[in-house]
Amino acid sequence: MKRCVVKFGGSNLKSRNDLFKILEVARMYRQNLIVVVSAAYGVTNQLIDAVSKIGELDVDGFLNSLYEKYRSFLGKDDEELKSRVFEIKNVLLGSKLLGEVPLQIQDFIVSHGERCSSLMLTKFFIENGFSCEEALPEQFGLITDGRFGNATVDLELSRENALKFFKKDKNYVVPGFYGLHDGRLTILGRGGSDYTATCLAYCLDAERVDLYKDVSGFMTCDPKHVESVKPVRHLSYDEAAELSYFGAKILHHATVEPLRKKGIPLYIFNINQFRSIDEPDTIITANGSTTEDIVKSISFTDDIAVVQFKGSNVGRVPGLLGQIASTFGSENINIKSVVTSQTSINVLISRQDLERSKKIVSKLSIPEVEQIDFKTDISLIATVGNGLLQKHGIAARIFSAVSKEQINVQMISAGASEVTMYFIVNITDRDKALRAIHREFFGG
Ligand code: ASP
Ligand code: MG
Repeated sequence: MKRCVVKFGGSNLKSRNDLFKILEVARMYRQNLIVVVSAAYGVTNQLIDAVSKIGELDVDGFLNSLYEKYRSFLGKDDEELKSRVFEIKNVLLGSKLLGEVPLQIQDFIVSHGERCSSLMLTKFFIENGFSCEEALPEQFGLITDGRFGNATVDLELSRENALKFFKKDKNYVVPGFYGLHDGRLTILGRGGSDYTATCLAYCLDAERVDLYKDVSGFMTCDPKHVESVKPVRHLSYDEAAELSYFGAKILHHATVEPLRKKGIPLYIFNINQFRSIDEPDTIITANGSTTEDIVKSISFTDDIAVVQFKGSNVGRVPGLLGQIASTFGSENINIKSVVTSQTSINVLISRQDLERSKKIVSKLSIPEVEQIDFKTDISLIATVGNGLLQKHGIAARIFSAVSKEQINVQMISAGASEVTMYFIVNITDRDKALRAIHREFFGG
């Protein structure tokens, strides 16, 4: 029988009570499980904080309070867990002496919450009669491309390794969020445990991946910004990928990629409203579905800035875009999207890369570019749904809804993906625009 991969996030690990919920869920499966866990709630942020303030860190105090947190899950002292927590003591002390944490060990520290969680959960499971073993990425060989802070998993190498390591008749608990490259630990980006789960499903040909969260799957929009949002039951891989690429926080942006290759379904559950393993809140599969009104969900991101290269002919000069793209690439700045016209080339980047981008473009000399502008304080709003580009009139509905609110749309892109249309507005207009489109397609 095929295995299932199930993942429990940090929001499922707030207190000891949560462990009993997790145990109840794990027992419902009649198959062997690979259980992927995140750090306990808030721990990754504390570790990131410790890295950034290493000079002033009270190393023992910090580790003692981390141990206290993990100990409270087990409800008693545990020497092995204590030594696990204190495994980062030397690198913290060494870094403190240096006054900074070298890049190569930052990811080792930031992913430590996951290793504490996996040992803690393994112990809890065993104590409660659910037999399992802990399996660390450094043991079974989850291999990445080595990019610190935001690595991508090498699925083929990892698969070879994992097939040799995991036995079919056992349950395993695996810490999410990181893999290795040349023996160095690299994290997979924030929220990366989702991605660990789907990579393992790929490696082991799992039947399905179930992600447990504390929210009810995908919604028609972010409930913090729009009222009367509705749950979204069914999405295709493309739709889920685009929504998370453009800001939906529920999934790590690379989560569906490994599944796409093998057609493995992804289910999202709210553990607080768990009914049965057959009743997920959102189901993500290859085909998804097409609804009458096409639009499934609207997402947005404020983590966006535009670098605008202006010149009367820039859209017509061969090779210009390539030159711009390779300049960003050589500095490791990811281009999120490009929108061009005859008179401007607009490069969309993450807000965090803005200062670095300013530096590199100031050195760039392209005769056709007469002016370079930077747009900030903007928000990108993405409308996502299968068939969006095929069905007549969807774009008109989106933009007339927005224009009725007298919102100025600064840039539009459609066609880059079959399922997405996005536009950029001033950040102060973001919520008004979200509500207008939501009302148009979902009422309320
Ligand atoms: N603990 C990591 C984070 O907070 C990874 C995860 O939760 O998936 O980003
Ligand atoms: Mg998390």
